[in-house]
Amino acid sequence: MLDIGSMTLPELEAQLVSLGQPKYRAKQIFRWLHVSGAVSFSEMTDLPLSLRGALSNNFVIFTCDIEKKYVSAYDNTVKYLYRLADGEWIESVVMQYKYGYSVCVSSQVGCRMGCKFCASTLDGVVRNLTASEILAQVYTAERDLGIRVSHVVMMGMGEPLDNYAQTLRFIRLITDPNGKNLSMRHISLSTCGIVPRIYDLMREDLQLTLSVSLHAPTDELRRSLMPVAKKWDLNALTEACRAYASGTSRRISFEYALIRGVNDTPECAVKLASLVGGMLCHVNLIPVNSVRETDCRESDPAVISRFSGILAGRGIPVTVRRRLGADINAACGQLRRKEKTSAGL
Ligand code: SAH
Repeated sequence: MLDIGSMTLPELEAQLVSLGQPKYRAKQIFRWLHVSGAVSFSEMTDLPLSLRGALSNNFVIFTCDIEKKYVSAYDNTVKYLYRLADGEWIESVVMQYKYGYSVCVSSQVGCRMGCKFCASTLDGVVRNLTASEILAQVYTAERDLGIRVSHVVMMGMGEPLDNYAQTLRFIRLITDPNGKNLSMRHISLSTCGIVPRIYDLMREDLQLTLSVSLHAPTDELRRSLMPVAKKWDLNALTEACRAYASGTSRRISFEYALIRGVNDTPECAVKLASLVGGMLCHVNLIPVNSVRETDCRESDPAVISRFSGILAGRGIPVTVRRRLGADINAACGQLRRKEKTSAGL
């Protein structure tokens, strides 16, 4: 059985031709999958019954079942725990902004990057998601909430650049003019800093926003928080970021989670400013979300504003991220972790 939701339109056309069907049927099916969010072939009512039968015999539509759903009492943020066809669980979050709805999607079941403050990585990686499973997170939320999603952030569980092929396929499919046609500029991809893949992405020359999880301004501190920093140091990472920004003319967004007493001192802010100074970039400060299994705690508001003031004073564009969904375990990997623990898994 072939994964039809991960196929590009030309791939689907080739499949239909090999089934002895007219090529134009592919576009109809593609619209059913990516515009209507169909979860079964029986919904595709403008296709002949015989074709629907042939499709069910040859292809599978990967969907997400809603295992749990939480709505924040503060800000309408919705967090889903989805169950995949093989029983694995992943998380997605839907956030409502003035400009529309944004979905934060997962790219892997678990994660193997090992960042010290992150709940997604506590049990390592189980497997990569297929492009269709990443898409299904968006389509399921749209269907469930009766909304149209306009923005996607790849900031859920997993490291998207550790699942490069499916991540790129997802991005190409969701922006396909024959499908959902999401604007490339409305996609953000966040990475912990897999340097060779940043150069690969640069060569794709996409107008998406690249977010880089920095979290520390020195190699020593970064290595203590993020094992990936042992492989690629800050010099190599910032060089890749500078190349990316000049190669694509897109501003890099640096993520910096402020952890009390760890990376939130004025000295860190000064070092951070000189590290990213002169680059086409923006720094996003995030008060760290405490995860039960780690001893990371968020910095005091006064410390956060001092840190951001130092950056701003040195001409670095900086914002402090608003916290959405704090009452529903909306941070990366927290919900799956909590549910697995309470289910005794
Ligand atoms: N693997 C990718 C994308 C997923 S994580 C990456 O590392 O960028 C999305 C963002 O959330 C990253 O910046 C990550 O470092 C951050 N993050 C993870 N756990 C967090 C926590 N407990 N509090 C705040 N931010 C966290």
